Amino acid sequence: MLDPQLKRIARTLGPSDFPRKLALELCADCNLACSMCHHPEMRRPKGVMPFPLWKKLADEVARVDPDTEIWFSFCGEPLMEPDLLVAYLRYGASVGLRSLNVNSNGQLLVPEVAGPLLESGVGTVVIGIDGFSAPVYASVRVNGDRDTVYRNVEHLLEQRRELATGPEIQVQFIEMDENEHEMGAFARYWLERGATVKVRNKLSWGGRLDTPAHQEKEERIPCPWALTMMHVFWDGRVPRCSGDVEGEDFQANAWHSNLTDIWAHLAPYRQLHLDRRFDELPDRCQQCRDWMSGAAERVREGQLDRLERRLRKRSLPMVYAPGTTALAKPFNPLPFPEGASSPPAL
Ligand code: SF4
Ligand code: SF4
Repeated sequence: MLDPQLKRIARTLGPSDFPRKLALELCADCNLACSMCHHPEMRRPKGVMPFPLWKKLADEVARVDPDTEIWFSFCGEPLMEPDLLVAYLRYGASVGLRSLNVNSNGQLLVPEVAGPLLESGVGTVVIGIDGFSAPVYASVRVNGDRDTVYRNVEHLLEQRRELATGPEIQVQFIEMDENEHEMGAFARYWLERGATVKVRNKLSWGGRLDTPAHQEKEERIPCPWALTMMHVFWDGRVPRCSGDVEGEDFQANAWHSNLTDIWAHLAPYRQLHLDRRFDELPDRCQQCRDWMSGAAERVREGQLDRLERRLRKRSLPMVYAPGTTALAKPFNPLPFPEGASSPPAL
């Protein structure tokens, strides 16, 4: 049966003249080598997006649709370049962009960076954590230190509280076999501290990695990533979609062309999705399962119950108590309401 969230997402997809979301690879380097990410295997050259390229992109988005969601995230860690990131966010805000967002692993989100980031005009900061205990964190977020990221995010939340304003801070939990038993404890811990908990499926990165996400082929929907989001590598190259992480399927460069024109060139692919002519899509789309990984659940304070169905589906009766490594009483959330959904998101 098709996941109800995917059914709802499918109803929102249609033709468009400009992407709803733009994912920008500010920095293609990374300090981690996460188990669920393509980055450790990435073959294309790594570098940093120059400011004139960001200015060109931001100016066009401001002109065409300033509500476009800008995400500083793709294959790399934006806080490897903290000063640039803050400068780019400030520039985006100065030209009127209304949705500026950051994805980070949080290891480098030290107090000296947190202050400028909170006051940069950023609307959402998503920190990928994926684990509650140190061993689980280390098994997923390879080369990362669990206590460092917990300390950094707690400080970020405290600083936002002192400012009494600032971005939404989301802690992300990608469901995987190795961490799913910690989802309840993770959610409870962070909700108590004022973060939003974002739970999402693991991506296959264009069919390169295995993912527990599963839908029958007959239930396939148009790919939410391809229909809503454009990606720009640090060097201006634009891949066909988020699954085309090496930029092998499409030739375009944002240095030389407007985003509007590049999006128009990608329209035939989007139309194949919309017409559900999936067999005519490129080979990568035949292997890739990311069309079924576009849904994310966002749980805010007072909504812990929204994780009930996810946990129950996985038969997860026991969790670790917050702040300890001892088994505690079963996590026992309230019923999950029908109709909870969220747009596709990284
Ligand atoms: S998920 Fe993010 S932090 Fe982890 S290796 Fe990939 S780019 Fe780096
Ligand atoms: S299903 Fe196709 S369009 Fe969607 S992310 Fe995968 S390769 Fe790209």
